[in-house]
Amino acid sequence: MKIFHRISVTLEPAIKNAFSKAGMPLEGGFVSFDIEETDERWPDVEKIVHRHQLLDIITTKFSEEEISNSEYLAVEPTWHNGYPQPDGDFGYLEKTYDLKEYCCKCGQGKVQAAPFRLKKPPNWGRRSVFQLNWVFDEYFVRTELWENAFRPHGIGCRPVVLHKTGEAISSVVQLEIEKKFDVGIPKDAPREVCPNCRRDKILPITRGFLPRPLVDVKQAMFKSSQYFGSGGSAFRKVFVSSSLFNELRLRDVKGVDFSPCLPSG
Ligand SMILES: [Zn+2]
Repeated sequence: MKIFHRISVTLEPAIKNAFSKAGMPLEGGFVSFDIEETDERWPDVEKIVHRHQLLDIITTKFSEEEISNSEYLAVEPTWHNGYPQPDGDFGYLEKTYDLKEYCCKCGQGKVQAAPFRLKKPPNWGRRSVFQLNWVFDEYFVRTELWENAFRPHGIGCRPVVLHKTGEAISSVVQLEIEKKFDVGIPKDAPREVCPNCRRDKILPITRGFLPRPLVDVKQAMFKSSQYFGSGGSAFRKVFVSSSLFNELRLRDVKGVDFSPCLPSG
């Protein structure tokens, strides 16, 4: 795997000078650049980033071998298609979830109780999977993809309705991902404890392998029992088995990407 850092910086003279000394001459007012951790300039650049507390967005690019050997893979959305309805004042929360255990400060504890409502039917183009903005632990797929790829793997579905009429949209279903398993979070993983409900959640993991489930999972698709996110956003991470991943890859499914979980042993 390769670890990339996207550094964003406002070039004050002292910072510009420091980067120049580190072998990275930068020009302009506000700049962003990518650097890989194996780059010989990274150790110096990293010090500058820490010293000046610069914005550093980390991404991991996995090798083909790491991906194809992985027993479980985390699903990563590449298409966020619209907002759950009604979107004013987050009205979708009341319409879609049982909120008895919900904390509005950290976003944890909602339980889906009704179909999601869309403003309009999806404009798929070449894609066949999406997530809604704000809802980072549910996936929506073309109905025929569910029938042909997900249903044979034992995955159910829920209807998705048009907000205006309340009627089901025939071209899309929501995947029903009921099973939740603990995944192995390192003890030192950064987490936030909610000041309101005292439940904690793990900050999104973007460096290296994703955590793997702590038990052998037979389901083709499942969620972490732990919550991820920061601020008011809380979501469970969604995972697939290698056999479902291979099926989706063979079909060249667009709208999602996959990150491998830590190998066993
Ligand atoms: Zn809370």
